Amino acid sequence: MTRVGESDAVLSGIGWDSHRLEEGRPLILGGVHIPAARGPVAHSDGDVLTHAIIDALLGAGGLGDIGQHFPDSDERYRGANSLELLAGVVDRVSSAGLRVVNVDATVLAEQPRLGPYREQIQAGLAGVLGLAAPRVNVKATTGEGMGFVGRGEGIAALAVAGLRSVD
Ligand code: MG
Repeated sequence: MTRVGESDAVLSGIGWDSHRLEEGRPLILGGVHIPAARGPVAHSDGDVLTHAIIDALLGAGGLGDIGQHFPDSDERYRGANSLELLAGVVDRVSSAGLRVVNVDATVLAEQPRLGPYREQIQAGLAGVLGLAAPRVNVKATTGEGMGFVGRGEGIAALAVAGLRSVD
């Protein structure tokens, strides 16, 4: 039996983010602006999907969490473009001798429907992550009227990421 060495292992990480929604704020998911009546209240652009992916990558790499790297008390990150933060995290992953293998994520939102934007979101994230689009999977579901998502009070996302050592 071939033993799987440390360098062959896929390191996995999870990420979760949520933001409160308010009328008239822009809704950005995976760097894509999505027309919606309500958007997240946040220090940065409030892109919950990208924030969950960032935490999944940092988790897989043993590199801490988004709050340590981009504190919301830091004025440099006010209104920050989260795709730029993601690019910075991909650089940190690569400096740690790791590369991204895949990302899978789920957005939890009562509305709007994300289907029409899914390919654009996946393609944009894949570009920043340096992956082929099928290695970035974005799903969406609602809260079926239950909880903060179901009542439309907030939006959330969870993600998993896989990393491998660079050979
Ligand atoms: Mg966030």
